[in-house]
Amino acid sequence: MPLLTVTKKGIYCAQADFYIDPWKSVDKALITHAHADHARKGSKAYISHNHSVPILKHRLGNINISGVKYGEVFSINGVKISFHPAGHIIGSAQIRVEYKGEIWVASGDYKTENDQITPPIEIIKCHGFITESTFGLPAFNWESQALVFQQINEWWKENKAEDTVSIIAAYSLGKAQRLIHNLDHEIGDIYVHNSINNINKIVRNLGYPLKETKHITAHTNAEHLKGNLVLAPFGALRTSLFNNIENKCLANASGWMAMRKTRKARPVDKGFVLSDHADWNGLLDVIKGTGASEVIVSHGYTEIFSKHLRELGLNAYSEETAYKSEQEIVTSDIS
Ligand SMILES: [Zn+2]
Ligand SMILES: [Zn+2]
Repeated sequence: MPLLTVTKKGIYCAQADFYIDPWKSVDKALITHAHADHARKGSKAYISHNHSVPILKHRLGNINISGVKYGEVFSINGVKISFHPAGHIIGSAQIRVEYKGEIWVASGDYKTENDQITPPIEIIKCHGFITESTFGLPAFNWESQALVFQQINEWWKENKAEDTVSIIAAYSLGKAQRLIHNLDHEIGDIYVHNSINNINKIVRNLGYPLKETKHITAHTNAEHLKGNLVLAPFGALRTSLFNNIENKCLANASGWMAMRKTRKARPVDKGFVLSDHADWNGLLDVIKGTGASEVIVSHGYTEIFSKHLRELGLNAYSEETAYKSEQEIVTSDIS
């Protein structure tokens, strides 16, 4: 039996009896990152990267959790375990396991471009690799973030010239911090919804150099927001606070903005293609880099992507998991 398998509860290591990102309650859960579909309540003990610890406590409440640093090796029943940067969001990790010379890596979610605030992905040599394929279609081919941020800054400047409020819908953990870190703060102030403000506080406490933002409160009014930029998760945009802003322009910054279908389903004034996941070539580069001959595709375009990997000569197959696409979770992201 391979060192890691996908079971009805999550990714499982039988030799050491732990799960990675389980979607059911288990005794020991190793967590790749704090997004809701990878980190769920109800397990007895958790282990994550130490920067995910305060975020998980904030999101899951009083859990029994310990943190490890990137590259720190510990053992459970002879299995050597270590966490390595995945480049996806702050605190995200790939989990490497080794037993009697067999090495497996569960990647969680990852991206290949350095977003300048998340530690960049480390490519780890392994025999078996468990990959996401959220954007595992050849049509997904990202522009550099420098270009995308230039487009967003231009859009903000144009809105500011007309006293319009620029609003960007952004996932509160990951996308929001990436935007705050890379946008041009010379243009104006950045206001954030409460859920983003909570994550920002945690991230600044961890020592990340996140630039200053203003917290939207009941006292924030139209005069404050005029010409400035607002970041809020999609779920929050339906509240009266946002509905009452009269002169506004709403944008979404997501990999899904590359698809016409999404642009129609979720009407915004402006779409920017910016994803915290690898694109088609990014996924392939990472998988080739690992040297893995066995690849399990856990979520995304699993059938198409695993078929392509088989055509490349890999022993690749898809497995049913409970991990979701970024698109499905944005609506529930107001914690
Ligand atoms: Zn994620
Ligand atoms: Zn995922």
